[in-house]
Amino acid sequence: MAETIAVKDAWAAGASLSDADYRAWYEESVTDPEGFWGRHAGRLDWVTPFTKVKNTSFAPGNVSIKWFEDGVLNASANCLDRHAAKDGGRTAIIFEGDDPGESRRISYAEVLEEVCRMANVLKAEGVRKGDRVTIYLPMIPEAAYAMLACARIGAVHSVVFGGFSPDSLAGRLVDATSGFVITADEGVRGGRKVPLKANVDKAIAIAEKGGQKVGKVLMVRRTGGDVAVEPGRDLWWHERREAVAPTCAPEPMGAEDPLFILYTSGSTGKPKGVLHTTGGYLLYAAMTHAHVFDYRPGEVYWCTADVGWVTGHSYIVYGPLANGATTLMFEGVPTYPDAGRLWQVVDKHQVNIFYTAPTAIRALMGAGDEPVTRASRRSLRVLGTVGEPINPEAWLWYYRVVGEERCPIVDTWWQTETGGILITPLPGATALKPGSATRPFFGVRPELVDGEGKPLDGAAEGNLCIADSWPGQMRTVYGDHERFEQTYFSTYKGKYFTGDGARRDGDGYWWITGRVDDVLNVSGHRMGTAEIESALVSHPKVSEAAVVGYPHDVKGQGIYCYVTLMKGEEGTEELRRELVLHVRGEIGPFAAPDKIQFAPGLPKTRSGKIMRRILRKIAEDEPGALGDTSTLAEPAVVEDLVANRQNKR
Ligand code: ATP
Ligand code: MG
Repeated sequence: MAETIAVKDAWAAGASLSDADYRAWYEESVTDPEGFWGRHAGRLDWVTPFTKVKNTSFAPGNVSIKWFEDGVLNASANCLDRHAAKDGGRTAIIFEGDDPGESRRISYAEVLEEVCRMANVLKAEGVRKGDRVTIYLPMIPEAAYAMLACARIGAVHSVVFGGFSPDSLAGRLVDATSGFVITADEGVRGGRKVPLKANVDKAIAIAEKGGQKVGKVLMVRRTGGDVAVEPGRDLWWHERREAVAPTCAPEPMGAEDPLFILYTSGSTGKPKGVLHTTGGYLLYAAMTHAHVFDYRPGEVYWCTADVGWVTGHSYIVYGPLANGATTLMFEGVPTYPDAGRLWQVVDKHQVNIFYTAPTAIRALMGAGDEPVTRASRRSLRVLGTVGEPINPEAWLWYYRVVGEERCPIVDTWWQTETGGILITPLPGATALKPGSATRPFFGVRPELVDGEGKPLDGAAEGNLCIADSWPGQMRTVYGDHERFEQTYFSTYKGKYFTGDGARRDGDGYWWITGRVDDVLNVSGHRMGTAEIESALVSHPKVSEAAVVGYPHDVKGQGIYCYVTLMKGEEGTEELRRELVLHVRGEIGPFAAPDKIQFAPGLPKTRSGKIMRRILRKIAEDEPGALGDTSTLAEPAVVEDLVANRQNKR
């Protein structure tokens, strides 16, 4: 789809940057990173100003990344104190509960007090600068308080998504050598209770066998449900909060002191403990939040991610709060009580900027237009997406139906490892192409290389690398710098390898084609699985599709498609033939699917990403070798897929 959507006058009016600004800023950012980032670092408050901006090396065997290394600051003070001092009554967090009847606005002054109290409780319980604190909470304001309380005293938080099992939680406790957990009695999502504290109890027992003792558990009372309380170890937040002072001086932190550890979502293997530090991360989160969403004072900004993912870290908590924004935290799910929930919340809180994932967009698209059009959505100004390639079909639905062509869409490409958005349009500055993440953000130097690492110029497709460091880059894999170098810097020497494939078109626009592991070679034709998925999803009866390769005697690799149909559609032989013809027509005969399996559901990580490595094993008829499935959202879908596999010998 070559269609380009030019910047509309209404988007450009009042936008922080024009296309010409973007070009000038970008040019400076890559020719003089020190000058550029040194100047923009002024958007943060520094206790001690830095004298050195950038000190980074991607050299094999000597990878080292430091930004603003002699500067001193505190992330929580940057997110709270300075805004509370100026305008304490401004809303920092809008909380929208799982139950549509529950919501609350919390001011900067109030968040600051809660964070100080929680920081004081942590200190009183023996948490010291540098200690790892594991946060296992639902999407309630206390999750943000807990993160910022750690940041305030210099403890390193490790947030684990509340949907993870006791096993996954235990693995992360052990890996982070964390002896302190903050959790809740229970969570609520989609009307169902999640036994968080009970999971923590199980996880602690497992972690102890793994050599990690957990000495304290701070519990937030969310539902009032019955939980086991171990005296001396388990403490209630609402009780302890009364016993401590409402103020707490922020700990002065070196810019390169760790801020948090976050495990990647595990789509490709064992999750990695990604370590981010204080100064560069915070600056990059704030800069990207301000410009990618063109945030304007007073606006309501909503990112639907969970704080358990990096998107929640950078674009629910740190970025928006560093910018003094109003950020909405949603406890529930898009389909509860019905598929109109997101748009009902948009109207209720007059949301201006809305940021979600393709998986949510596709699911809602499958439910039809009515739940969307039933809401007014007049407040919306900018729409965003992140997490996976968005197929043009879903992009256009989002643009036309949700945004009524009034709102630019920012398709933001980035990773847990990158700390913030690396490739993205800027609203009002960048002409859009449905399905393209468009242009690099300031300071980001994407490069394409072929399999041998040879740089590819002009319009080309290959492996996506980044040539130089940016402030939000991860610094190491926690406790395993060797794995850090191996994973990201050994494939193409001297470059950061993203693991993703991409195409650069004649206009210099970037199209992410998916993970490099997901490129197929069918009879000598190389193609991204995303392309075939896109073609399948453009069929009116298909709601979602995942494509993998399997060994094929004649073609080298065969094309195996898992297809989820729209509500009410039936997976007949006739539809199978129709889909094969459809893909041939959309892409070409070489892309014709060899196998189509109708699947009621696809295996996804808890952040909604399709786990293709599992699908690959099923397509290869190796259901016994599925590997680590602990990060799956719904393990049951795998059984159905295995039972109905099309390549059974
Ligand atoms: P793991 O590294 O453990 O396998 P993961 O890669 O799924 O997990 P994340 O860091 O959450 O963990 O996801 C980053 C990946 O998500 C990117 O490398 C890319 O494949 C995909 N992605 C994110 N945003 C986009 C986007 N806008 N377009 C295309 N792909 C995207
Ligand atoms: Mg990854």
